[in-house]
Amino acid sequence: MSRNLISYGMLETSGWIYEGKDLMVNFYKNDKKVISGKYHQGLYYLQGTVSREEANLSKVEKNMTNVWHSRLGHMSLNNMSELVKRGFIIDKEVKTLDFCEHCIIGKSHKQSFPKVKHVTKGILEYVHSDLWGSPSTPDSLAGNKYFVTFIDDFS
Ligand SMILES: [Zn+2]
Repeated sequence: MSRNLISYGMLETSGWIYEGKDLMVNFYKNDKKVISGKYHQGLYYLQGTVSREEANLSKVEKNMTNVWHSRLGHMSLNNMSELVKRGFIIDKEVKTLDFCEHCIIGKSHKQSFPKVKHVTKGILEYVHSDLWGSPSTPDSLAGNKYFVTFIDDFS
């Protein structure tokens, strides 16, 4: 699938505002228009280019602003301009920042799970499971990096 879908509700819970008129939709963040979309066959198609991973840019002309944006952990254009002023980035490499899908999705607000009451009637009818650990955490005394828990809801 070469396209991603963006949820209006997800954007709205992240402080985005949208308005639609004449089969066009505009998205605003902090009273600033960020991107617009045009209606076609049941969907709004966002107008703009999507920032891809650095590796994918080698096939097409590289937008070095977006490359620096990715390298610096999705730094804002204002902060990258500050690095240019201080001589850390070459001036001609920071111009305009294209639409960055990672920023929109990554900065969206995560919602907690809603409270659910389970009505189980027997053992192993509903089991809660969780995986914990990461490659960067110290090994356990037994030399393991991960552990998994299984908790039977009924018992
Ligand atoms: Zn970004």
